[in-house]
Amino acid sequence: MSFMDDPQWLTPAHCAAPGTTVPAGFVTLVGAGPGDPDLLTVKAARVLRQASLVLYDHLVGEQVLGLVPASAERIYVGKESSCHTLPQEGIIELMCKLARSGRSLVRLKGGDCYVFGRGGEEALALADAGIPFDVIPGITAAQGAGACAGIPLTHRDHAGTLVLATGHLRGTNESALDWPLLARPRQTVVFYMGVATLPTICKQLVAHGLPAETPAAIVERATMPDQRVTTGTLASLPQLAIDHAVRAPALVIVGGVVSLQKKLSLGQVRAVT
Ligand code: SAH
Repeated sequence: MSFMDDPQWLTPAHCAAPGTTVPAGFVTLVGAGPGDPDLLTVKAARVLRQASLVLYDHLVGEQVLGLVPASAERIYVGKESSCHTLPQEGIIELMCKLARSGRSLVRLKGGDCYVFGRGGEEALALADAGIPFDVIPGITAAQGAGACAGIPLTHRDHAGTLVLATGHLRGTNESALDWPLLARPRQTVVFYMGVATLPTICKQLVAHGLPAETPAAIVERATMPDQRVTTGTLASLPQLAIDHAVRAPALVIVGGVVSLQKKLSLGQVRAVT
């Protein structure tokens, strides 16, 4: 028997303390990874193949959803930052209602459930409601972008600290982020949801002490066949983003590690499986 079939690793049985019964309503929060379906974890793929009900987000690809049995019910709950099919409260309400009615469901989210995307809020709501749940980690977009675009997120010569930050500034509230911390030298900062606020991000980082020549990149659709990487500096990237008509989903990566991108992407041959 392979470890994949070992009942001790099957969700939800392994979550329950020995001797306890798992109630009927159970939620598995699953990280779908950054886009390439081959980057799903083995565990996520197994849970999807066994699913009977899936609530999924905007950034989950067709091929990942294709693992769900045809007989399963799929509910799209959307979630582009400005265009929610259901507001977050509605998603939480629906998830709790279905679980309370005795359904076991998969809540499928892009990347990793606990890196932005409000998975923490969904898990807290389940905990508050007393609904048992499990969380299966996914490869977050920053990891996918780093590996597939040729940008090591840390490197001894360039960065000993990695910061994952949101570029979503709730309107024009530039003080929402800790700019002095984000502008520290010798670190890599990856901004999620930073396309719309790119000019502010670059301006603030320079205002707080990073050289305007600091390398910076935008990685669109990381890990997908049409991934695109645009590199420049804090000074040049906002204009390059306009020239290249950059679109979400995209990450902004700032720091000396971006200077390695050219060499590493030239040397890298994407393995096809
Ligand atoms: N939980 C997700 C992030 C959700 S927030 C994760 O761990 O990756 C949504 C943001 O993630 C997008 O606006 C974008 O900035 C980023 N993102 C997600 N998938 C991406 C991809 N394939 N390429 C580039 N950025 C991506």
